[in-house]
Order: sequence, then C-alpha cells, then structure tokens
Amino acid sequence: MTLPKAVLQNLKKVIRDPKRLLTREEDLLSYGYDASFGFYRPDLVVQVLSSEETAAVMKLANRYKLPVTPRGQASSLSGGPLPVKGGIVLDVSQWNQKLVIDPEDLVAIVSPGVITAAIDDAAAAYGLMYAPDPGSSHFSTIGGNLAENSGGPRCLKYGVTKDYVIGLEVVTPQGEVIHTGGRTVKNVSGYDLTKLIVGSEGTLGIITEAVLRLVPRPPATRTLMVSFNHFVDSGRMVTKILTSGILPSKIEMMDQASIRAVEAYRPLGLPIDSEAILLIQLDGHPAAIDEEMLKIEEIAKQLDAREVKDAATEEEAKELWKARKLVSPAIVRHKPTKISEDATVPRSKIPEFCRRLQQIKEKYKIDLVVFGHAGDGNLHPNIICDKRNKQEMGRVEQAIQAIFSAALELGGTLSGEHGIGTMKSAFMAQEFSQETLDMMERIKHAWDPNHILNPGKIFPEPGVKLVLSE
Ligand SMILES: Cc1cc2nc3c(=O)[nH]c(=O)nc-3n(C[C@H](O)[C@H](O)[C@H](O)COP(=O)(O)OP(=O)(O)OC[C@H]3O[C@@H](n4cnc5c(N)ncnc54)[C@H](O)[C@@H]3O)c2cc1C
Repeated sequence: MTLPKAVLQNLKKVIRDPKRLLTREEDLLSYGYDASFGFYRPDLVVQVLSSEETAAVMKLANRYKLPVTPRGQASSLSGGPLPVKGGIVLDVSQWNQKLVIDPEDLVAIVSPGVITAAIDDAAAAYGLMYAPDPGSSHFSTIGGNLAENSGGPRCLKYGVTKDYVIGLEVVTPQGEVIHTGGRTVKNVSGYDLTKLIVGSEGTLGIITEAVLRLVPRPPATRTLMVSFNHFVDSGRMVTKILTSGILPSKIEMMDQASIRAVEAYRPLGLPIDSEAILLIQLDGHPAAIDEEMLKIEEIAKQLDAREVKDAATEEEAKELWKARKLVSPAIVRHKPTKISEDATVPRSKIPEFCRRLQQIKEKYKIDLVVFGHAGDGNLHPNIICDKRNKQEMGRVEQAIQAIFSAALELGGTLSGEHGIGTMKSAFMAQEFSQETLDMMERIKHAWDPNHILNPGKIFPEPGVKLVLSE
C-alpha cells in the first residue's frame, strides 16, 4: 500500500519527534512479526505517547481510510498486532510513564505501555496485589493484556484481567476520546463499555489509560509438585481438587514432553519418567494452608500419584515455578516453529480433553507438548514443527482442527486467553451461530464504520482457511 503523501506530512505536525515516525525498511520489517506465526509488513510505524497524539493519528487514518493496528510488546500468540492489511502500526509500548497506586481507593492508574509485572511490584509496596499474572507478565504491556483479556496461573483463584479493570480511557477509531467506568468498584450506570473493550483485541478502540482494581496480598503461600505415572490422572486430580472445597491460587500442568524439554534445557531435578506433573500453589492464612495441604495429599493418594513434593523454602518454590516458565523456550529447541493453542474446556471435562489430546498426537504423528493453566481447563497444546516442511504442516493443520473440534464438542471454547486474532478466525463459525457473529459485526461497525482499526482479525473472512505451510 502506498500511503498518501499528505498523511506523512500531517503526521509530522502531530508527532514532533521524528524518531517516533518509523519508515526505514529494517524498522518496518521488525514490526511485521509477533510471537505467533506469519509476517505482514506495515507501511509506517507511529509511536504515540499521549491521548491527543493517538486521537490525531486516528482522525487522520479515518479520513484517509487507512488500516491502523495497535501494538504493545507483540507477545501475542494469535497474530493480534500483525498489520495484515498493511497501513499504520500504532506502537503504544513506549507510553509507560504513568503508574500510580492509590492505596485508599485500592486502585492503580496506568498508561497503556506499562509492563504488567511492574504494576504488581508497585502494589506490593503497599501490601496489595494486581492479581492477573500472564506467563508473559514481565514483558507484555497492560494495554495488550486488556485488549486480549489475558489470564495467568493466579487467575484460577482471582479471576482474569477483565475482573480487575473498573475504568478506561479509550480513543475510538474515529478519533474521539471517551471514558468508561470510573474509580468505584460498583458501577451499573449505562452499558458496560469497559467490559466490551476488554478482550476486543484492539478492534474497537485504543486503550490509552486504565484504572485497575487491587486486592490485599495473601499473608502466606506454599508450593507443591505432584507427579503422576499416567497423564490422564493429572487431569483427574485437577477436577478432584476443585470439587473438594479447596481453591488453590494456581494449578499448572506439565506433560512428559515439557518436563523432559525443560530438564534438557536447564536441569532442575524434575521427574523425567513421570507422564505429568501438577504444580500447585496454595495461598491465604498459614493454618488454612496446612489443612488444605493435608487434603491435597489425601487426593493424591487416592489417585495413586507417584509423589507429592512440598517446597520447603521460598527458593525451592521459585525453582518449581521457574520450571513452568521455562517450558516455552525449552520446547522450541529441536524444531523452529511453535504453534501455541489455548482451547479451553469446562473443568469437569479436563480428563477427557487430556485423553483426546493424546489420541490426536498419535493419529496425526505430531510433536504435541501439553502444559498450562489446568485449573481453569485452559491447557496449552503446543505443536512443535517446521513450517518449511509442507507434509508435516498438512498434518499440523488437521491436528489443530481436531483440537478445536474436541474442545468445542466438550462444551469448551477456541480461546481461553490468547484471543482469536488471525490464527483462529477461520474457526469462529464452528463456535458461534451466524446470528451471534452478525451481532458482533454490527457492534464492530457501530464503533468503526470505516473498518480501519485492526482489520482482518476475529471475524472469519469468506473462503479463508488456516494454511500453515509456506
Ligand atoms: C512466553 C509467552 C507466555 C505467555 N503467557 C500468557 C499467559 O499466561 N496468559 C495469556 O493470556 N497470554 C499469554 N501470552 C500471550 C501474550 O503475552 C498476551 O496476549 C499479552 O496480553 C500481549 O501483550 P502485548 O503487550 O505483547 O500486546 P501485543 O501482542 O502487542 O498485542 C496484543 C493485542 O492487543 C492489541 N493492543 C495492544 N495494545 C493495545 C492498546 N493499548 N489498545 C488496544 N489494543 C491494544 C493489539 O492490537 C493486539 O490485538 C504469552 C506469550 C508468550 C510469548
């Protein structure tokens, strides 16, 4: 796409620092990727630092009907920040100056480029916690988390990003600045536009400021690892724990392929001959934790688990959680392409989903690694492959289709937290009726009549199927 000359001239009047208007080929190329699959070159990158700048860019783009794709740190696993129709990438990652904690209202007020973990760190100084903790919390932005409604291990007990946002400032695709919600925990005035924007994957508006709810930090935590001879038993254990009256703050699963990959990458003493492990964190009052610990040991015994290992020190607990964080880098060492799914099933169906994933792995002869937020029914089946190998990618496409079908048949959803983006839009008609999709499209049209904001995402485009081979 060739940008009209007037666009760049006008942008120079809005963005006074030329370093924040990126046109060099090497910059455009590096903005063509995210953490998923595929490459799309933008025509221009604009780094914004205020609502005024953002509104001015949007007004201009709307006038010239230019596609605009918002972008945080591009850690998306669904293709969300990829400029699939070219045009402008609106980079908000440099806009990280505002991070205010109000300990009396129990809120944080943040600009969109703030790194998520920094919010929790700042809250900790007041004995408070920002609960959502995606695995990427040390490098993803709060704007990206809000746009994707991100989850994380701690969300099992505390809820996901949408449960912690009470107010937003948003720039609309037509360049208006609007405010939704506010600073109160309760607010039922008018339609809840805050919740509509959260999870809209950057297709309805650009989040320029957020008011986030904080909660008291729990006084104590305890981490344990339970290992299993059979993968499906780890799924059974999750269901049994969650129906026993205990609500751990985290239950994460790693299958044998992820255990072995981590041990090969950085030996941490994980049980490589176990078919799966669960990493569990309990939090709350120390006496309550002791009781819950006994219950978990009892459940593990009933299921014939191999071992329950209680982390004796904070250091040991940190090592166990490090193992979980290392899965992603560890599994890509033997093949270059990682396709990370996040299909999610109701909790009662976790054992059956584990069984189906095993069958899919065998049927399509794929390298399938399963780990993730098992307590939420949100497993991460990751397929490790080589996108240059056409034959293999054909099998991978079929396996992905089978994973989505299995999750939907079990009453689940295509995406628990990574979003639809480009990677799953072809499957939306499997989850939603035409009437439901039409309603979503009408909402999109009301916000963005010229369809300039993050086009090519979420909605299935006629005739476009998932094709992974190059
Ligand atoms: C190793 C690894 C682990 C991960 N673990 C998790 C996990 O545990 N849980 C989870 O949910 N995700 C996880 N992710 C996925 C990813 O980190 C999240 O989706 C994250 O929220 C993306 O944030 P970002 O700043 O990188 O946004 P980007 O990837 O840049 O953008 C994501 C989407 O948000 C939109 N967007 C960005 N900023 C704004 C804004 N200010 N206003 C409007 N729209 C905006 C973009 O257009 C895009 O659609 C993981 C990714 C990796 C690589």
